[in-house]
Amino acid sequence: MTVTETALLEGVPDRLFIGGEWVESTSGRAIEVRDPATGLVLKTVADASVADGARALDAAVAAAPSWAATPARERGEILRRAFDLLQERREEFALLMTLEMGKPLAESRGEVTYGGEFLRWFGEEAVRIAGHYGPNPEGTGTMVVSHRPVGPCYLITPWNFPLAMATRKIAPAIAAGCTSVVKPAELTPLTTLLFVQLLADAGLPPGVVNVITTSTAGDVSEPIIADPRLRKLSFTGSTPVGVSLLRQAAGGVLRTSMELGGNAPFVVFDDADLDKAVEGALLAKFRNVGEACTAANRFIVHESVAEEFAERVTAAVSEFVVGRGTDDGVRIGPLINDEAVAKAGALVDDAVARGATVRTGGAALEGDGTFFAPTVLTGVARGSDILREEIFGPVLAISTFADEAEAVAMANDTQYGLVSYVFTRDLARGQRMIDALDTGMMGLGVGVISNAAAPFGGVKQSGIGREGGALGIHEYLETKYTLIAPAS
Ligand code: NAD
Repeated sequence: MTVTETALLEGVPDRLFIGGEWVESTSGRAIEVRDPATGLVLKTVADASVADGARALDAAVAAAPSWAATPARERGEILRRAFDLLQERREEFALLMTLEMGKPLAESRGEVTYGGEFLRWFGEEAVRIAGHYGPNPEGTGTMVVSHRPVGPCYLITPWNFPLAMATRKIAPAIAAGCTSVVKPAELTPLTTLLFVQLLADAGLPPGVVNVITTSTAGDVSEPIIADPRLRKLSFTGSTPVGVSLLRQAAGGVLRTSMELGGNAPFVVFDDADLDKAVEGALLAKFRNVGEACTAANRFIVHESVAEEFAERVTAAVSEFVVGRGTDDGVRIGPLINDEAVAKAGALVDDAVARGATVRTGGAALEGDGTFFAPTVLTGVARGSDILREEIFGPVLAISTFADEAEAVAMANDTQYGLVSYVFTRDLARGQRMIDALDTGMMGLGVGVISNAAAPFGGVKQSGIGREGGALGIHEYLETKYTLIAPAS
C-alpha cells in the first residue's frame, strides 16, 4: 500500500454511527475489508449485532419528529453543503472506492460525480415538495393533496457502487424529512462510513442518518424490518434477496423501493452506426468491470453486421489493460471476490459447451487478486445460462437475429426489465422499440443512461419504484388528501 492509501484508510471511521456518535459494536466481532486486487486486508470495522441494529433504529425513531419539522430549506442546504464538501474531497472518496471495490480510479471519480449529483439534485428538490389543490367536482368544498415524510427508513445498499447507491437513497430521505438506518454491503462499508462523517460535517443533526455495518445482514435486518416503528424499506441488490425482503416487509405493510438485478439487452440493427454501437457497447459492458445492474448482458446483433461488430469489439477488448484500479491506464480492475470469478467462468464454460466461440479472454487470470480476462463470445446459443443470468463480469456475449420481431422477442425473453440499449439510425424503428421493450429505462443510441435527474428503476423482477428525478423524493413521501368543507 502507498503512503497516501495508508493515510486515507487511517482516517476512515471504523465504528457504527448511531445517534450522531461513533460507537463500538456489542457483538465483539469485526469485519475485515479487503482489497480485491491484492486480497490484503485494508481495514477492520465494527460488525453490528442485532442489538446494535435496534439501537440504530431507536436513534432514527427518536430523531424523526424534529427532522420532519425542520424547514425544507434547511434540509436542502445541508445537502448542498454535503455536495460541496464531496467535491473538495473527491480524490479521497474515489481512491477509497477503488481500494475496497476494485474499479479503475477514473471510474471511481465518475462515481463521485454521479453520486454527488444526488446530493445537489435532492437539495434542490427539498423545497419543491408541492401538492395540489382544487374544487370538489360536486361543488361542496375544496380538495387539498399534500405530502409528508413517510417516517423512519431502512436503507440497504450493494457493494458495486459504494457511494452512488448510498446517496441515491440517503439524499432523497434527508430531503423529504425522513430519518434512516443505512446498512452498506459488508464487502464495501468504508465509503459509507466516510460519507456519513461528511454528512455530519455538513451539519446533519444526530440521529437523522445512522449507519450499521454487519456481516450478518439477514439476522440484523429481520427485527428492524419487523419493528412497527419502521415505515419504509429501500433496497438495492440482487433479486432473490429483494424477494425475501419484500416478504418480510409485507408483515408491517411497509412502503418499499426495490432496485434489483438486470439482464440488459443491447440490440444492434443492421442500419446502426457501428462506430457508435461499438463505443456504446464497450461502455455498457465494461464500465464498473461489468459489475453493474445496468451492464449490457446480452448483445443481440443483426446477422448481417454481427461479424464486423464482433471483430471491432474484440480488437478493442483485447487491448484493455487489466490490473489494480489505482494503476495508470488500467481499464479492467478485479472482480469483487472469488465467487464472482467462479460465476463468470462457469457462464463462459456453459456458453462454450453449447457452441459459443471465445474471441478473446475466456478465463480467470492467474496470480493475486480476483481478475477475470475481458472476454468476447460469439455464437451464443439460445438456452445458454449466460443469457438468463446476470454475468456481473467483463464478458461480452453476442447472439444474432434475423428481423425486428425476433430482436424484440429475444430482448424481452427474461424475467428482468431494468434497462435496454438500442442502436439504429431509423427513428421510426427506435420509437417502435421504446414501446416494444419491457424495461424501465432505455438507451437509444447511448450505452450509459444513469443520471440523478432521471427516474432510475426497473419493471418485472428488476424492481419497484424509481430513484432520482422528480419521482425520487416521492419514494420517501406519503400523500395526504384533505377535504375542506365549504365556508358557512
Ligand atoms: P446482494 O443482494 O447480495 O446484497 C445487497 C445488500 O443486501 C448488501 O448490503 C447485503 O449485505 C444485503 N443483504 C444480503 N442478504 C440480506 C438479507 N437476508 N437481509 C437483509 N440484507 C441482506 O447484492 P450484491 O451482490 O451486493 O449486489 C449486486 C446485485 O445488486 C446485482 O444483482 C445487481 O444487479 C443489483 N443492483 C441493482 C441496482 C439497481 O439499481 N437496480 C443497482 C446496483 C446493484
